[in-house]
Amino acid sequence: MTATRVLVLNSGSSSVKYQLVDMADGSRPAAGLVERIGERTSRLVHRPPAGGPERTSDAPVADHEAALKAAAAELAADGLGLGAPELAAVGHRVVHGGLRFTEPVLIDDEVLAEIERLVPVAPLHNPANLRGIRTAQALSPRLPQVAVFDTAFHTTMPEHAARYAIDTATADAHRVRRYGFHGTSHAYVSRRTAELLGRPPSEVNVIVLHLGNGASASAVRGGVCVETSMGLTPLEGLVMGTRSGDVDPAVVFHLSRVAGMSVDEIDTLLNKRSGLLGLCGDNDMREVRRRVDAGDADARLAFDVYVHRLKKYLGAYCAVLGRVDAVAFTAGVGENSAPVRAAAVGGLEGLGLAVDPERNEPPGGEPRLISPPGARVAVAVVPTDEELEIARQTYALVSEENPG
Ligand code: ADP
Repeated sequence: MTATRVLVLNSGSSSVKYQLVDMADGSRPAAGLVERIGERTSRLVHRPPAGGPERTSDAPVADHEAALKAAAAELAADGLGLGAPELAAVGHRVVHGGLRFTEPVLIDDEVLAEIERLVPVAPLHNPANLRGIRTAQALSPRLPQVAVFDTAFHTTMPEHAARYAIDTATADAHRVRRYGFHGTSHAYVSRRTAELLGRPPSEVNVIVLHLGNGASASAVRGGVCVETSMGLTPLEGLVMGTRSGDVDPAVVFHLSRVAGMSVDEIDTLLNKRSGLLGLCGDNDMREVRRRVDAGDADARLAFDVYVHRLKKYLGAYCAVLGRVDAVAFTAGVGENSAPVRAAAVGGLEGLGLAVDPERNEPPGGEPRLISPPGARVAVAVVPTDEELEIARQTYALVSEENPG
């Protein structure tokens, strides 16, 4: 197959991110972002090939269709349009694949219907993903379109990790169980961590800490996910930028009965006004750290709550795995915040975990070890690359379907 490029599309509720990945050499000939779709302050930023200057447009973008058309026009202006012969497929990030999608799939009407059926468990994400897919299909009907699911990597979780201890009939009727998210990142980072250790993924047990605006942990045994911190939705687990992570479910009844809040108000509270933001007014870890260093007590508490939760999950996943070979930090906070890494691992020498300050402090873009030389458990910083992983999975699938 001579076509080696994949257009990766990530259609969020109000944004579309796109990236062209060349699987021949891993290069990114072009990329861009359309933000604030449907608002008057929409913005398109396009990064053209070979380091040319970024192009920005502030024209209003009414909907996902207009956003993708604008992106396709930018790509076409660089000779990289959807009709280019080098383009092998479009790879779509789809947030919720339920239990059915354990691997990437070629999109057809039946697949679209199933993604639609999952809307009740992913009301914010799947509709936006569907809009992106339908528009891309209309713009390039002959190009294979592949869906890569955020949940797929976690479908290997054993039943005892995936089930909530609630009435089975109710859970089954409404598909209430733990699905997990950020799977593309956990898959990529766990594999890259094994590479960093120079060992096959099948022999390595890794705890991946994906700490971005959203945050999740996973326990990966021999390349297979056995536990992850997000659940039915991305709200469960770690403290995040604006999400609470774990709370006693009775907090919801309490706020409803005592504060008279509606379900939607509590949903917004826990998803958008909690986490670091709720605790100290800032959701960006850089700002939280700046305030901690200036002696701000609220920021200190927010940082400590964040790190305490992380440490609890680290300990729990050591127990889940029994033997841990590596802990990998990734995403915006995990890759960039030395204080978070030092604090999360601090005091866990008894579990074989430690961070060497001289290795932890310096910034760096490549996968690297930050544990002391000879440590029993490797602690690593491994930058994630979800677009590359989506492109890799998409390309593998279309090459299989269309060999030669
Ligand atoms: P998303 O979940 O939106 O993909 P990212 O993985 O890009 O997020 O992470 C974004 C977050 O990373 C920011 O909100 C910020 O808190 C954090 N971050 C980025 N750079 C730094 C840094 N140098 N130090 C600490 N935190 C950082």
